[in-house]
This record gives sequence, structure tokens and C-alpha cells, in this order.
Amino acid sequence: MSAYQEMAKQCKCCGKHVPLPTTLKEYNEVMLCPTTFSNVVEYKRIWKTLGKRPAGSIRKHFSDYVQQLVEETIDKNEDGTIQ
Ligand SMILES: [Zn+2]
Repeated sequence: MSAYQEMAKQCKCCGKHVPLPTTLKEYNEVMLCPTTFSNVVEYKRIWKTLGKRPAGSIRKHFSDYVQQLVEETIDKNEDGTIQ
């Protein structure tokens, strides 16, 4: 198993990343591939803009994993990585 494959296993967004990420980003002490990290940032941005949980027509574009990560942190302070 390559170093990239080992690293990618830290991100739990899917069972197997294709293509493999070459870097990971940290959100709320969870390591994420750049795609999932970007989706978390975008979903959180939408939530904050609306001031409430986005409707299903928006949520359907984000994975359950992304929604879960944001829901667990939406009321917490910004950690600097999200701006
Ligand atoms: Zn991932």
C-alpha cells in the first residue's frame, strides 16, 4: 500500500478514494480529503447564510458524512480553517 493510500484512509468520506488525495485537510480535529473538506465549508456557509438547516433540495447535494460533520459543529466557534 502506498503512502498516499495509507494517508487517504484517515478520511472516512468513502471506502476508497478515486482518485487518491495527495493532501488532507483538518476540520474539527477530523482529517478530510480536499473534496470533502470543501463540501463541508460550502455546506456550513449555506447553513450560516440561511440561519437554519438547509432544505432537502440543498441537502441532497451533500453526502450524509458532510452533513453530519457540519451538524456536529454548526453551533461551535469558527476554528479558523473555515473562513
Ligand atoms: Zn475523503
